[in-house]
Amino acid sequence: RFITLEGGEGAGKSTQLRALAAALRARGQDVVETREPGGSEGAEAIRALLLTGGADRWSARAEALLFAAARADHIEKTIRPALARGAWVLSDRFLDSSRAYQGQGALTDADILTLHRIGSDGFLPDRTLLLTLPEGEATGRAKARDGDAEDRIGGRASDFHRAVADAFSRFALEEGARVHAIDASGPAEIVTLRLLDAIEDLLP
Ligand code: C5P
Repeated sequence: RFITLEGGEGAGKSTQLRALAAALRARGQDVVETREPGGSEGAEAIRALLLTGGADRWSARAEALLFAAARADHIEKTIRPALARGAWVLSDRFLDSSRAYQGQGALTDADILTLHRIGSDGFLPDRTLLLTLPEGEATGRAKARDGDAEDRIGGRASDFHRAVADAFSRFALEEGARVHAIDASGPAEIVTLRLLDAIEDLLP
């Protein structure tokens, strides 16, 4: 099974991914933990290109193409082989992040989906867990972790983050069979239980 964790910064995706992986392993499952951008040798090299050189290094279109290229390699080299041997794959961010971040400027959501069709045959997760937090709380957690620094990609303002959050919520509304919104507030252990509950039907 292929599960992706999505959401804005500071929602606890990385912590929850580790906890969910541990819970699945405790149930005897083989689990591969991965992330985007990255997750394969080539995609990690693209990640380095995306995260260095400052916010203005890439045009919006070039950035979207790099994300799509990294994703194509990640799927082919890491995700599909793991799924083929029966493992669970948990990814910290995936296509929906590109739709939310790259899909509302120079390019539309339809454009991002077209790039994904070309790059990766439109390959989708079995389930996407969208970690949601009240706006103030997410900002607070991200600040506590990263200081007051600007985003690593983009140096974006709060109205951009609101638009990203709105886009994620729209995916949950319109693609509810795949994208489940999960309340990420409260103790981490409780959030992990909510995530497990949201994939219960996929467990053998
Ligand atoms: O929360 P995380 O550490 O995964 O965030 C990585 C950074 O990359 C965030 O600042 C996010 O804005 C950005 N990003 C992006 N487009 C993506 C994935 C991540 O702009 N498709």
